[in-house]
Amino acid sequence: MSVWVVTIDGPAGVGKSTVARRLADDLGWSYLDTGAAYRLVTLAALDAGVSIEDEAALMETIRDLEARFETDGRVFLGAENVTSRIRSPEVTAAVPRVAARPGVRRLVVQNQRRFAARAGRVVAEGRDTGTVVFPDAAVKVYLDGDPEVRARRRQAQDGGLAALGTVLGDLQERDRLDSTRAVSPLACAEDAWRLDTTDLTLDEVTQAVRSHVRSRIPITLPGGS
Ligand code: C5P
Repeated sequence: MSVWVVTIDGPAGVGKSTVARRLADDLGWSYLDTGAAYRLVTLAALDAGVSIEDEAALMETIRDLEARFETDGRVFLGAENVTSRIRSPEVTAAVPRVAARPGVRRLVVQNQRRFAARAGRVVAEGRDTGTVVFPDAAVKVYLDGDPEVRARRRQAQDGGLAALGTVLGDLQERDRLDSTRAVSPLACAEDAWRLDTTDLTLDEVTQAVRSHVRSRIPITLPGGS
């Protein structure tokens, strides 16, 4: 069976996860949250007291990882459900440094490609899915948006507990680290369709992406909906 992939990349808080999840549901395809893997490695390293600057130790951590990603989005480390813990402020702050390590990315990307080969039909979202992980993807989307608008969305998603200035500062710092790293930085693939989400609601973004993807995927695709 040939593998069909749709990639959705973009900076933090732009709505990638929601849009990718809805699109995967709509198409009846698998959903791949590539950021969750970097978050899981970061959590495991922090829990084990492994320095996030020690690349060899991080790679060892990945090899020992007993990770499970459920189709409903739940993530397990061994028997523990770590779905909330991988989104904690500590993990979110540390993850770009872990994700910047070439050895870490090599192992994580291998797993992501294996997942796609097994699943056959995948909507993947992240930072480098269109540029590096799946350069031959059938459709590539890049979502962008004004940082302040993205910070407001993220603040609302998190229940409005943190001050907007703090959320905005954290988000801009993460974007800076993700887009300036040497290996697989956040970037729009040359052949990606770019959408500015600044003035759109999440429903409007979903609708626009859905129409774009639907216009490029053969309706009769075996295994698709
Ligand atoms: O998408 P999410 O916010 O969960 O990603 C968390 C972090 O994982 C990003 O800030 C980035 O450092 C890293 N990441 C990455 N490449 C991806 C997806 C996420 O480097 N494809």
